[in-house]
Amino acid sequence: MSKLVPPHGSDTLMALLVPETERAESLRRAQSLKRVPMTSRETSDFLMLAMGAYTPLTGFMGHDDWHGCCADMKLSNGLFWPIPITLSCSRDLADSIAIEDTVALVDQDSGEIMGELEVLDKYAIDKAFECQHVYRTTDPKHPGVAKVMDQGEVNLAGRIRALSEGMYPRQYQGLYYRPAETRALFTDKGWSRVAAFQTRNPMHRSHEHLAKIAIEVCDGILIHQVLGALKAGDIPAEVRVKAIDTLTERYFVPGTYIQAGYPIEMRYGGPREALLHALFRQNFGCSHLVIGRDHAGVGSYYGPFDAQHIFETLPPGSLAIQPLKIDVTFFCYKCDGMATARTCPHGPEHRLEISGTRLREMFAKGEKIPDEFSRPEVVAILKEYYAGLRSTGSGPTQ
Ligand SMILES: [Zn+2]
Repeated sequence: MSKLVPPHGSDTLMALLVPETERAESLRRAQSLKRVPMTSRETSDFLMLAMGAYTPLTGFMGHDDWHGCCADMKLSNGLFWPIPITLSCSRDLADSIAIEDTVALVDQDSGEIMGELEVLDKYAIDKAFECQHVYRTTDPKHPGVAKVMDQGEVNLAGRIRALSEGMYPRQYQGLYYRPAETRALFTDKGWSRVAAFQTRNPMHRSHEHLAKIAIEVCDGILIHQVLGALKAGDIPAEVRVKAIDTLTERYFVPGTYIQAGYPIEMRYGGPREALLHALFRQNFGCSHLVIGRDHAGVGSYYGPFDAQHIFETLPPGSLAIQPLKIDVTFFCYKCDGMATARTCPHGPEHRLEISGTRLREMFAKGEKIPDEFSRPEVVAILKEYYAGLRSTGSGPTQ
């Protein structure tokens, strides 16, 4: 009997990935099906479905689930779900597809057939309604809103059969763990209280501090990287992986952490996205999710602790996973160590805080990054990355 938290709304993980031995035959059949292209966000959701990270969903949401999810964070069966997982296409393509048709789902960036969808519902949505509820704004400058506004006019829904995970298992070998695999790893280590640490950044000392607070109170931590698409200016996954490997090898106790990655594309949906991050971490077997300042936020759309407060508004029993809420972390020269706003009584003038924008500027100008901000081994890796960008003339933009 596993001591881990159960999957969300289900006793077992949904396995939507067709066994490898049957894939070639299914792919041959899929070649003759009508093709529906998926955007990078839709492909990332497809991959999350495929690996069971979105258990108990078995495919893209129909109208009633979409509506309930936007308005009340509930599927039509009453189960908690904070962000719609949908697939869109053009009106013309939707008109050519009948209910109960099976279509081939194609990643529009790679052209690869990823799987099949048995279409059980097609419906147009009010995009502004979705954005206002999920993102709390309809501002097209918000990257998550922009993607909803750009998507096709009609949503297609139904059960998927996944035939490929694209380049992920090969490109991220040793990092790309599916929920069944992280659960097995945790069980092998004898862990039951496992914190997930979500990151799309290389880990500086504030992130290290957050992770170590979690290790103090849990059996171990899953350092869980976003491997899907990010926004311009974010550090690519390969560089982050190297930086985090270097940090953990030198500054973490072996056996207290696992570094892994997962294929989601960030929506930058702040509080609602924090809830989705918690939900699928439960599927990965985590009992806690570290929620620091401005989790999954972007710009100034969300208050710094909105992603913590939203957990307090959920009806009891919505999730088995718990947030591990931690205040803003920094180095304080007066405390002479890492601290949080809860543990350091000193003013901002004693604290070392560097914004992402300022940090990029410091790298661009070749300024010294203080050791109190980031470990020198991590800084060296980032320096090399930024130097490469400058020599190719493709500097990061924000
Ligand atoms: Zn202090």
